[in-house]
Amino acid sequence: MEAMMTGMINNIFFIIFPIIIYQMLATAGQRNFFVSHRVTMTVLFSISIILCMLFPYQFLTDQYIFDLRQVPMIVGALYGGPLVSAVLFLVSSGGRFLIGGDGMYIAIFNQFVIAAGVPFLRPLYMRLKRFGKIVLVFCISIASLLFNMLAGAYFFGDPIHDIIGIWVMLIINQGTIIVLTALMIEHMQRQEYLYNSLLKHEKMETVSHFAAAVSHELRNPLQSIKGFIQLMKEYDYSREKQVEFHSLILKEINAAEDLIDDYLVYAKPTYGQLEPITVSTEVHHVLKIMAPYANGKDVKMQIGDMDETAEILVDRQKFQQALVNIIRNGVESMPDGGTLAIAAKSSPAKVWIEVTDEGVGMTKEEVQRLGEPYFSNKIKGTGLGMMVTYSIVSQMNGQIMVDSQKGKGTEFTLEFPNIATFEKK
Ligand code: ADP
Ligand code: MG
Repeated sequence: MEAMMTGMINNIFFIIFPIIIYQMLATAGQRNFFVSHRVTMTVLFSISIILCMLFPYQFLTDQYIFDLRQVPMIVGALYGGPLVSAVLFLVSSGGRFLIGGDGMYIAIFNQFVIAAGVPFLRPLYMRLKRFGKIVLVFCISIASLLFNMLAGAYFFGDPIHDIIGIWVMLIINQGTIIVLTALMIEHMQRQEYLYNSLLKHEKMETVSHFAAAVSHELRNPLQSIKGFIQLMKEYDYSREKQVEFHSLILKEINAAEDLIDDYLVYAKPTYGQLEPITVSTEVHHVLKIMAPYANGKDVKMQIGDMDETAEILVDRQKFQQALVNIIRNGVESMPDGGTLAIAAKSSPAKVWIEVTDEGVGMTKEEVQRLGEPYFSNKIKGTGLGMMVTYSIVSQMNGQIMVDSQKGKGTEFTLEFPNIATFEKK
């Protein structure tokens, strides 16, 4: 009994370790367990199939040696689809072939039926709710064990009434484990999905803030264009005057276009390529996008000492997003208006970008909690802005330093490796 428990627990461990590793790999952007790590998952599931076969356990009597390889096979086929299923079949049948013995062909045939049949149930499975999914995996597991039992009885003349008790226990045993495995995967997918939709929500919220500010700001150029056109209609201006009006109108149209372009850059999705950028150009750019928002809150944005030549290696849009998040927090920390200053400095090794506000500031504890998901002191805050910012900056080999005093203000410093250090290498 003890040996059986140990063996079974080993098998269970072999099954859940890929799932645990998967959870460590999974970061953002995927909704299906297998889709974005197909290769990794196939390898991990293959390993768990092999381990299950290498360390089977005796089930109830000495004659019955059992392992849980069907669990990764069925789960893999359901979540991964036909191709993954085919690979898992090759692995498990190859393994079974090496083990050899009486039941080899039956076992391999059984594995073939699972591998070929289960992917057909996949579309149905994906449509089912959680309870339906559990029922379906349980049924698949029963069907395949019954198949083995009947084949055993038919080919080897195992007396059915002797072994039926054992098979019932096996069905419950494997069924429970496969149900738990499916539940675990579903639970993780759900969490991942929620997490991703929250991140999206955070970005959407920023974008919609801008949309409001930008469309407000667009009114100015449109108003003056309208004004000029009305003037030209009402009076008979000289050719010279008209040309002057035309160029003024064109200027306003260009201003409007720039505003829209700037806004679009921020709203577009990012792809994560690193490229060399000039810090001051990007800072000016971000300040321009943020200007309508800051104006609306009575905040003056000021450029301090600016190293005009400093360059760093980053993903342009993510860098902008990080700056936008920090500046936005700075603006929001000054409900009665104030000044937000930005500066950039560099040494041969590092580049620093400093964002200083005169806002409400934070206590030491609050500073420590920055970047923690959902930490927010705002009524409509998401508490995701800084989390995203920290993760973006560290992805780009940067660091964030925070110096804050309650009631006085906050200084955020972003530190990046100077591009000069890359070029030397
Ligand atoms: P949100 O802005 O949605 O609240 P963030 O992750 O952007 O979420 O910020 C988390 C919290 O950190 C804010 O609610 C605020 O309390 C604090 N914080 C961030 N930046 C500043 C700042 N410049 N001044 C004061 N408090 C800040
Ligand atoms: Mg924020």
